[in-house]
Amino acid sequence: MMTDRIKQTLTMLGTMLLVAPTAAQEAPICQNELVVLGAGQDAGAPQIGNADDDGPRLLPSSLALIDRVAGKRYLFDATPAITEQLAMLDAIEPPKEGLGIDGIFLTHAHIGHYLGLVYLGREAAGAKNVPVYAMPRMAEFLRTNGPWSQLVELENIDIQVLSAPSIHAVDQNLIVAPFLAPHRDEYSETVGYVMIVAGKSVMYLPDFDSWQKMDELGGGTANLTDGIEAVFIDATFYDDNELPGRDMSQIPHPRVTETMDLLKDLPPKERAKVHFIHYNHTNPIRDPESAESREVGANGFNIARRGDRFCLD
Ligand SMILES: [Zn+2]
Ligand SMILES: [Zn+2]
Repeated sequence: MMTDRIKQTLTMLGTMLLVAPTAAQEAPICQNELVVLGAGQDAGAPQIGNADDDGPRLLPSSLALIDRVAGKRYLFDATPAITEQLAMLDAIEPPKEGLGIDGIFLTHAHIGHYLGLVYLGREAAGAKNVPVYAMPRMAEFLRTNGPWSQLVELENIDIQVLSAPSIHAVDQNLIVAPFLAPHRDEYSETVGYVMIVAGKSVMYLPDFDSWQKMDELGGGTANLTDGIEAVFIDATFYDDNELPGRDMSQIPHPRVTETMDLLKDLPPKERAKVHFIHYNHTNPIRDPESAESREVGANGFNIARRGDRFCLD
């Protein structure tokens, strides 16, 4: 739940951080940077069994946060494409040592959002105590089911249990506020995150069932963009015509068309903060040249693309 009170507190804390002394003089141009490592749905694109799909390639949704002053890098979600995604991050900001992952914030236990953790284990990186931030059920799931439990036993990962809604100071520069999101929670809770760094807030909510259920949790579209620089929002499906032959009323996820409609009265500056992410391989916004992508742009919204970079100073 993303209540106004949390937002106000975050904004206040952000202002405090903004005026805190930093090593601004010696720092590079952008001290805090957000990078989109992937913008697709869990299974990416082309999806398995679609060898003749020659549309734009998608990697599952993930964001990276770079703190160049402290020399830290954080990931939001650990996708099955983490190897390629971390390489992309390395090309932007090389690791200080080892893998250079100072924390991974998990949203939930669906394949696109946590499977990448296995690459921290013995058969791959053999990482040492990478902090993995997870909600209580998610943490318990990882601790008690292989292969994740081996990551815990071998201390490849160090699970940090979160609660939601809460405000968690990760270090002096970064505050992370998880909030609950309605989703089919077979193995774990589902959360979105607000991250606040150097006074700038970003929301990441890649996967949830509906705005109606978000409203019931107190976190709907009202004031969605207040005090926030960028909002990365579930765009799994464009509209109800996307899966021919299937009754899409039974398939969750807010449609891009619905979200645009709900937010259409916002001023242009606020609409521009919205970045659609986590799109399915069938979603026409996958193609930057599609009529639907142009429609999103014409309505004043943005579509997250792998490689997008945002300076948060
Ligand atoms: Zn997903
Ligand atoms: Zn999911």
